[in-house]
Amino acid sequence: RRRDALDAIQCYTERMKVDAFARLSMENALRVAIDREQFTLLYQPKVDADAGRVVGCEALIRWEHPDEGVIGPDAFIPLAEEIGLIHQLGQWVLRRACEDLGRWRASGNALVPVAVNLSASQFGRQDLVDQVRAVLDETGTDPALIELEVTESALMRDTRSTAELLVQMHDMGLSLAVDDFGTGYSSLAYLKRFAVNTLKIDRSFVQDCDAGHDDPAIVRAIIGMARSLGIGLVAEGVETVAQARVLQAEGCPVMQGYLFARPMAADQFGKVLAVGLPE
Ligand code: C2E
Ligand code: CA
Ligand code: CA
Ligand code: CA
Repeated sequence: RRRDALDAIQCYTERMKVDAFARLSMENALRVAIDREQFTLLYQPKVDADAGRVVGCEALIRWEHPDEGVIGPDAFIPLAEEIGLIHQLGQWVLRRACEDLGRWRASGNALVPVAVNLSASQFGRQDLVDQVRAVLDETGTDPALIELEVTESALMRDTRSTAELLVQMHDMGLSLAVDDFGTGYSSLAYLKRFAVNTLKIDRSFVQDCDAGHDDPAIVRAIIGMARSLGIGLVAEGVETVAQARVLQAEGCPVMQGYLFARPMAADQFGKVLAVGLPE
Protein backbone atom coordinates (compact mmCIF):
# COMPACT_ATOMS: atom_id res chain seq x y z
CA ARG A 1 0.00 0.00 0.00
CA ARG A 2 2.82 2.38 0.93
CA ARG A 3 4.51 1.67 -2.34
CA ASP A 4 1.31 2.63 -4.20
CA ALA A 5 1.08 5.88 -2.29
CA LEU A 6 4.69 6.70 -3.13
CA ASP A 7 4.09 5.86 -6.75
CA ALA A 8 1.05 8.07 -6.78
CA ILE A 9 2.98 10.97 -5.28
CA GLN A 10 5.82 10.48 -7.71
CA CYS A 11 3.36 10.34 -10.55
CA TYR A 12 1.65 13.48 -9.35
CA THR A 13 4.94 15.33 -9.05
CA GLU A 14 5.94 14.28 -12.54
CA ARG A 15 2.62 15.48 -13.86
CA MET A 16 2.99 18.83 -12.17
CA LYS A 17 6.39 19.20 -13.75
CA VAL A 18 4.93 18.45 -17.15
CA ASP A 19 2.06 20.89 -16.56
CA ALA A 20 4.36 23.60 -15.30
CA PHE A 21 6.62 23.01 -18.26
CA ALA A 22 3.76 23.02 -20.76
CA ARG A 23 2.47 26.20 -19.23
CA LEU A 24 5.82 27.90 -19.27
CA SER A 25 6.41 27.04 -22.90
CA MET A 26 2.92 28.24 -23.74
CA GLU A 27 3.66 31.50 -21.93
CA ASN A 28 6.83 31.94 -23.92
CA ALA A 29 5.10 31.06 -27.16
CA LEU A 30 2.40 33.61 -26.42
CA ARG A 31 4.96 36.35 -25.79
CA VAL A 32 6.68 35.53 -29.07
CA ALA A 33 3.30 35.43 -30.82
CA ILE A 34 2.50 38.94 -29.60
CA ASP A 35 5.89 40.22 -30.76
CA ARG A 36 5.41 38.67 -34.17
CA GLU A 37 1.69 39.39 -34.39
CA GLN A 38 0.77 35.77 -35.08
CA PHE A 39 -2.91 36.54 -34.66
CA THR A 40 -5.85 37.19 -36.86
CA LEU A 41 -9.38 38.45 -36.38
CA LEU A 42 -12.40 36.69 -37.80
CA TYR A 43 -15.72 38.50 -38.14
CA GLN A 44 -19.11 36.97 -37.53
CA PRO A 45 -22.13 38.81 -38.96
CA LYS A 46 -25.09 39.93 -36.86
CA VAL A 47 -28.24 39.91 -38.93
CA ASP A 48 -31.52 41.73 -38.76
CA ALA A 49 -34.21 39.17 -37.85
CA ASP A 50 -36.79 40.42 -40.34
CA ALA A 51 -34.82 41.34 -43.45
CA GLY A 52 -31.73 39.17 -42.98
CA ARG A 53 -29.55 42.22 -43.58
CA VAL A 54 -26.11 42.36 -41.93
CA VAL A 55 -26.32 45.06 -39.26
CA GLY A 56 -23.08 44.47 -37.40
CA CYS A 57 -20.36 41.96 -36.66
CA GLU A 58 -18.26 40.58 -33.82
CA ALA A 59 -14.47 40.36 -34.01
CA LEU A 60 -13.14 37.02 -32.72
CA ILE A 61 -9.43 36.44 -32.27
CA ARG A 62 -7.44 33.42 -33.49
CA TRP A 63 -3.80 32.54 -32.82
CA GLU A 64 -2.08 31.39 -35.98
CA HIS A 65 0.56 29.21 -34.39
CA PRO A 66 3.42 28.33 -36.77
CA ASP A 67 3.49 24.66 -35.65
CA GLU A 68 0.16 23.99 -33.98
CA GLY A 69 -2.07 25.66 -36.55
CA VAL A 70 -5.04 27.80 -35.60
CA ILE A 71 -5.75 28.05 -31.86
CA GLY A 72 -9.07 29.34 -30.55
CA PRO A 73 -9.34 32.05 -27.89
CA ASP A 74 -10.59 29.77 -25.12
CA ALA A 75 -7.18 28.06 -25.23
CA PHE A 76 -5.09 31.21 -24.68
CA ILE A 77 -7.14 34.21 -23.51
CA PRO A 78 -7.35 32.95 -19.91
CA LEU A 79 -3.56 32.54 -19.81
CA ALA A 80 -3.06 35.97 -21.39
CA GLU A 81 -5.25 37.43 -18.65
CA GLU A 82 -3.39 35.63 -15.94
CA ILE A 83 0.07 36.72 -17.03
CA GLY A 84 -0.93 40.27 -17.91
CA LEU A 85 -0.55 39.97 -21.67
CA ILE A 86 -4.24 40.68 -22.26
CA HIS A 87 -3.61 44.42 -22.38
CA GLN A 88 -1.26 44.18 -25.32
CA LEU A 89 -3.48 41.62 -26.99
CA GLY A 90 -6.55 43.80 -26.46
CA GLN A 91 -4.73 46.74 -28.04
CA TRP A 92 -3.83 44.61 -31.01
CA VAL A 93 -7.43 43.46 -31.42
CA LEU A 94 -8.84 46.99 -31.36
CA ARG A 95 -6.19 48.27 -33.76
CA ARG A 96 -6.74 45.45 -36.23
CA ALA A 97 -10.51 45.91 -36.09
CA CYS A 98 -10.08 49.63 -36.83
CA GLU A 99 -7.68 48.87 -39.68
CA ASP A 100 -10.10 46.36 -41.18
CA LEU A 101 -12.89 48.95 -40.95
CA GLY A 102 -10.60 51.32 -42.87
CA ARG A 103 -9.99 48.71 -45.57
CA TRP A 104 -13.70 47.96 -45.96
CA ARG A 105 -14.42 51.65 -46.23
CA ALA A 106 -11.63 52.09 -48.79
CA SER A 107 -13.29 49.45 -50.98
CA GLY A 108 -16.42 51.57 -50.98
CA ASN A 109 -18.57 49.52 -48.65
CA ALA A 110 -21.22 50.86 -46.32
CA LEU A 111 -19.90 50.00 -42.87
CA VAL A 112 -21.55 48.30 -39.91
CA PRO A 113 -20.36 48.51 -36.30
CA VAL A 114 -17.69 46.05 -35.17
CA ALA A 115 -17.93 44.59 -31.68
CA VAL A 116 -14.71 43.72 -29.85
CA ASN A 117 -14.59 41.60 -26.71
CA LEU A 118 -13.07 43.06 -23.56
CA SER A 119 -11.88 40.84 -20.71
CA ALA A 120 -12.67 41.75 -17.14
CA SER A 121 -8.95 42.12 -16.42
CA GLN A 122 -8.63 44.81 -19.07
CA PHE A 123 -10.57 47.08 -16.73
CA GLY A 124 -7.81 46.74 -14.20
CA ARG A 125 -5.77 49.36 -15.99
CA GLN A 126 -6.56 53.01 -15.66
CA ASP A 127 -4.91 53.80 -18.99
CA LEU A 128 -7.39 51.62 -20.91
CA VAL A 129 -9.47 54.62 -21.97
CA ASP A 130 -6.42 56.56 -23.16
CA GLN A 131 -5.21 53.56 -25.10
CA VAL A 132 -8.57 53.10 -26.77
CA ARG A 133 -8.73 56.77 -27.64
CA ALA A 134 -5.22 56.67 -29.08
CA VAL A 135 -6.05 53.74 -31.38
CA LEU A 136 -9.27 55.39 -32.60
CA ASP A 137 -7.41 58.66 -33.26
CA GLU A 138 -4.46 57.07 -35.01
CA THR A 139 -6.68 55.00 -37.29
CA GLY A 140 -9.23 57.77 -37.82
CA THR A 141 -12.06 55.51 -36.68
CA ASP A 142 -15.53 56.82 -35.91
CA PRO A 143 -16.24 55.68 -32.32
CA ALA A 144 -19.84 54.98 -33.35
CA LEU A 145 -18.46 52.04 -35.33
CA ILE A 146 -16.97 50.33 -32.29
CA GLU A 147 -18.97 48.39 -29.75
CA LEU A 148 -17.46 46.82 -26.63
CA GLU A 149 -18.72 43.42 -25.52
CA VAL A 150 -18.23 42.87 -21.81
CA THR A 151 -19.52 39.74 -20.10
CA GLU A 152 -22.20 40.08 -17.53
CA SER A 153 -19.89 38.54 -14.92
CA ALA A 154 -17.19 41.14 -15.65
CA LEU A 155 -19.70 43.94 -15.12
CA MET A 156 -20.84 42.34 -11.89
CA ARG A 157 -17.43 42.74 -10.38
CA ASP A 158 -18.55 46.30 -10.06
CA THR A 159 -15.39 47.91 -8.98
CA ARG A 160 -15.67 51.64 -9.07
CA SER A 161 -13.00 51.74 -11.76
CA THR A 162 -15.08 49.53 -14.09
CA ALA A 163 -18.02 51.90 -13.84
CA GLU A 164 -15.79 54.93 -14.38
CA LEU A 165 -14.03 53.43 -17.37
CA LEU A 166 -17.31 52.45 -19.00
CA VAL A 167 -18.75 55.92 -18.52
CA GLN A 168 -15.66 57.43 -20.13
CA MET A 169 -15.92 55.03 -23.08
CA HIS A 170 -19.58 55.89 -23.40
CA ASP A 171 -18.76 59.60 -23.44
CA MET A 172 -16.24 58.92 -26.17
CA GLY A 173 -19.10 57.58 -28.30
CA LEU A 174 -18.48 53.83 -28.02
CA SER A 175 -21.40 51.56 -27.30
CA LEU A 176 -21.56 48.79 -24.75
CA ALA A 177 -23.05 45.32 -25.10
CA VAL A 178 -23.45 42.90 -22.21
CA ASP A 179 -22.19 39.52 -23.37
CA ASP A 180 -23.53 36.14 -22.16
CA PHE A 181 -26.54 37.92 -20.71
CA GLY A 182 -28.71 35.84 -18.40
CA THR A 183 -25.87 33.80 -16.92
CA GLY A 184 -25.08 36.30 -14.17
CA TYR A 185 -27.28 38.19 -11.82
CA SER A 186 -27.23 41.74 -13.04
CA SER A 187 -30.12 43.88 -11.94
CA LEU A 188 -31.99 46.53 -13.86
CA ALA A 189 -30.11 49.08 -11.79
CA TYR A 190 -26.85 47.78 -13.24
CA LEU A 191 -28.03 48.04 -16.81
CA LYS A 192 -28.97 51.63 -16.21
CA ARG A 193 -25.88 52.51 -14.29
CA PHE A 194 -23.53 51.25 -16.98
CA ALA A 195 -25.53 52.88 -19.82
CA VAL A 196 -25.84 49.53 -21.60
CA ASN A 197 -26.82 49.75 -25.27
CA THR A 198 -27.34 46.07 -26.07
CA LEU A 199 -27.89 42.73 -24.36
CA LYS A 200 -26.56 39.57 -25.97
CA ILE A 201 -28.77 36.67 -24.93
CA ASP A 202 -26.49 33.83 -23.95
CA ARG A 203 -26.30 30.86 -26.31
CA SER A 204 -27.53 28.45 -23.60
CA PHE A 205 -30.98 30.11 -23.56
CA VAL A 206 -31.09 30.34 -27.33
CA GLN A 207 -30.44 26.61 -27.55
CA ASP A 208 -33.30 25.91 -25.16
CA CYS A 209 -35.81 27.81 -27.16
CA ASP A 210 -36.83 25.48 -29.94
CA ALA A 211 -39.77 23.13 -29.81
CA GLY A 212 -37.94 20.08 -28.52
CA HIS A 213 -36.71 21.88 -25.41
CA ASP A 214 -38.11 24.00 -22.60
CA ASP A 215 -40.47 26.72 -23.48
CA PRO A 216 -38.73 29.99 -24.27
CA ALA A 217 -39.67 31.60 -20.97
CA ILE A 218 -36.24 33.04 -20.21
CA VAL A 219 -35.73 34.37 -23.70
CA ARG A 220 -39.20 35.91 -23.57
CA ALA A 221 -38.45 37.56 -20.23
CA ILE A 222 -35.12 38.99 -21.43
CA ILE A 223 -36.71 40.31 -24.62
CA GLY A 224 -39.53 41.95 -22.66
CA MET A 225 -37.12 43.53 -20.24
CA ALA A 226 -34.81 44.91 -22.92
CA ARG A 227 -37.77 46.32 -24.78
CA SER A 228 -39.22 48.16 -21.84
CA LEU A 229 -35.79 49.58 -21.02
CA GLY A 230 -35.20 50.59 -24.63
CA ILE A 231 -32.07 48.42 -24.86
CA GLY A 232 -31.02 46.62 -28.05
CA LEU A 233 -30.94 42.82 -28.25
CA VAL A 234 -28.88 40.20 -30.02
CA ALA A 235 -29.45 36.45 -29.72
CA GLU A 236 -26.11 34.63 -29.94
CA GLY A 237 -25.40 31.07 -31.04
CA VAL A 238 -28.48 30.67 -33.26
CA GLU A 239 -27.97 27.35 -35.01
CA THR A 240 -31.35 26.16 -36.24
CA VAL A 241 -34.28 27.53 -38.20
CA ALA A 242 -36.55 26.48 -35.32
CA GLN A 243 -34.60 28.66 -32.87
CA ALA A 244 -34.63 31.60 -35.26
CA ARG A 245 -38.41 31.27 -35.71
CA VAL A 246 -39.09 31.30 -31.98
CA LEU A 247 -36.75 34.25 -31.44
CA GLN A 248 -38.34 36.19 -34.25
CA ALA A 249 -41.85 35.41 -32.99
CA GLU A 250 -40.83 36.62 -29.53
CA GLY A 251 -39.56 39.86 -31.04
CA CYS A 252 -35.77 39.51 -30.93
CA PRO A 253 -34.52 42.01 -33.54
CA VAL A 254 -30.96 40.78 -34.22
CA MET A 255 -29.39 37.32 -34.41
CA GLN A 256 -25.91 35.87 -34.67
CA GLY A 257 -24.93 32.24 -35.14
CA TYR A 258 -23.85 29.43 -37.41
CA LEU A 259 -27.32 29.38 -39.01
CA PHE A 260 -26.47 32.68 -40.72
CA ALA A 261 -22.68 32.57 -40.96
CA ARG A 262 -19.58 31.29 -39.21
CA PRO A 263 -16.86 33.74 -38.22
CA MET A 264 -14.93 34.61 -41.41
CA ALA A 265 -11.77 36.36 -42.58
CA ALA A 266 -11.80 40.15 -43.02
CA ASP A 267 -11.68 39.96 -46.84
CA GLN A 268 -14.63 37.66 -46.86
CA PHE A 269 -16.58 39.90 -44.53
CA GLY A 270 -15.78 42.79 -46.90
CA LYS A 271 -17.58 40.83 -49.63
CA VAL A 272 -20.53 40.26 -47.32
CA LEU A 273 -20.70 44.03 -46.79
CA ALA A 274 -20.69 44.50 -50.55
CA VAL A 275 -23.24 41.88 -51.61
CA GLY A 276 -24.84 40.52 -48.42
CA LEU A 277 -24.91 36.95 -47.17
CA PRO A 278 -25.60 34.13 -49.63
CA GLU A 279 -29.19 32.91 -49.44
P1 C2E B 1 -18.13 34.95 -26.97
O1 C2E B 1 -17.80 36.39 -26.89
O2 C2E B 1 -19.34 34.48 -26.28
O3 C2E B 1 -18.17 34.62 -28.53
C1 C2E B 1 -19.07 33.73 -29.15
C2 C2E B 1 -18.41 32.40 -29.42
O4 C2E B 1 -19.41 31.50 -29.95
C3 C2E B 1 -17.34 32.44 -30.49
O5 C2E B 1 -16.39 31.44 -30.17
C4 C2E B 1 -18.10 32.08 -31.75
O6 C2E B 1 -17.27 31.56 -32.77
C5 C2E B 1 -19.02 31.03 -31.21
N1 C2E B 1 -20.25 30.88 -32.01
C6 C2E B 1 -20.80 31.75 -32.85
N2 C2E B 1 -21.96 31.27 -33.37
C7 C2E B 1 -22.14 30.06 -32.83
C8 C2E B 1 -23.15 29.04 -32.97
O7 C2E B 1 -24.14 29.18 -33.69
N3 C2E B 1 -22.99 27.90 -32.22
C9 C2E B 1 -21.91 27.73 -31.40
N4 C2E B 1 -21.83 26.58 -30.75
N5 C2E B 1 -20.94 28.67 -31.25
C10 C2E B 1 -21.06 29.81 -31.96
P2 C2E B 1 -14.81 31.76 -30.20
O8 C2E B 1 -14.47 32.58 -31.40
O9 C2E B 1 -14.11 30.46 -30.01
O10 C2E B 1 -14.60 32.68 -28.93
C11 C2E B 1 -14.76 32.16 -27.64
C12 C2E B 1 -14.66 33.23 -26.60
O11 C2E B 1 -13.35 33.79 -26.55
C13 C2E B 1 -15.59 34.41 -26.86
O12 C2E B 1 -16.89 34.08 -26.43
C14 C2E B 1 -14.92 35.50 -26.06
O13 C2E B 1 -15.31 35.41 -24.72
C15 C2E B 1 -13.44 35.13 -26.17
N6 C2E B 1 -12.82 36.00 -27.20
C16 C2E B 1 -12.82 35.88 -28.54
N7 C2E B 1 -12.12 36.88 -29.11
C17 C2E B 1 -11.64 37.66 -28.11
C18 C2E B 1 -10.86 38.86 -28.06
O14 C2E B 1 -10.45 39.44 -29.08
N8 C2E B 1 -10.57 39.36 -26.82
C19 C2E B 1 -11.05 38.76 -25.67
N9 C2E B 1 -10.74 39.32 -24.49
N10 C2E B 1 -11.80 37.65 -25.69
C20 C2E B 1 -12.10 37.09 -26.89
CA1 CA C 1 -18.72 38.29 -27.36
CA1 CA D 1 -21.24 35.53 -25.75
CA1 CA E 1 -19.26 33.07 -24.02
